[in-house]
Amino acid sequence: MSDLNAPLTCTFHPKRETQLRCNKCNRPICIKCAKRTPTGYRCPECIRSQQKIFITAKVFDYIIAFAITGVISFLGSQLSLFLGFYSFLIAMGAGFLAIWVVKKAINNRRSPLLKNVMIITAFVFSLPPIITWFIRTVPYIREVGFAASGGFYSLIWYLFYSIIITSYVFYQLRK
Ligand SMILES: [Zn+2]
Ligand SMILES: [Zn+2]
Repeated sequence: MSDLNAPLTCTFHPKRETQLRCNKCNRPICIKCAKRTPTGYRCPECIRSQQKIFITAKVFDYIIAFAITGVISFLGSQLSLFLGFYSFLIAMGAGFLAIWVVKKAINNRRSPLLKNVMIITAFVFSLPPIITWFIRTVPYIREVGFAASGGFYSLIWYLFYSIIITSYVFYQLRK
């Protein structure tokens, strides 16, 4: 009797009263623990075990994804040195190519971490033109002869390339 009347409390926070239950395991959960899914509220543990199914990537896949994304992003960044405004096309092309090649190479295996590895790698390897541009603005180096520093506009295209390839990979992989 007393047990029935006692207010439900969250499985993970015994001090919080709640009306919600996980719609998979039926344990009571508080609103902070509840995660909304297309099929209703789930507790953190059910969410976690569900996510494990989607993690299929193997250790070697991360190395492959890193290498392919890095090379393609870097080559694209070198092209952006010559293409000015069209850097944005190169950025999208490089992002598309990197995702496509990686997927083929690792047989469509995936994991959230793998996505982050690709996003960060695409970003880091898009930076060389930007870094070079800034190095060239240092007076001493300019004197030594790396002179051919692009004007301010070329810096904008390099930033363009970096931002677009990073966000392209980001949004394509979040889908
Ligand atoms: Zn549950
Ligand atoms: Zn809770």
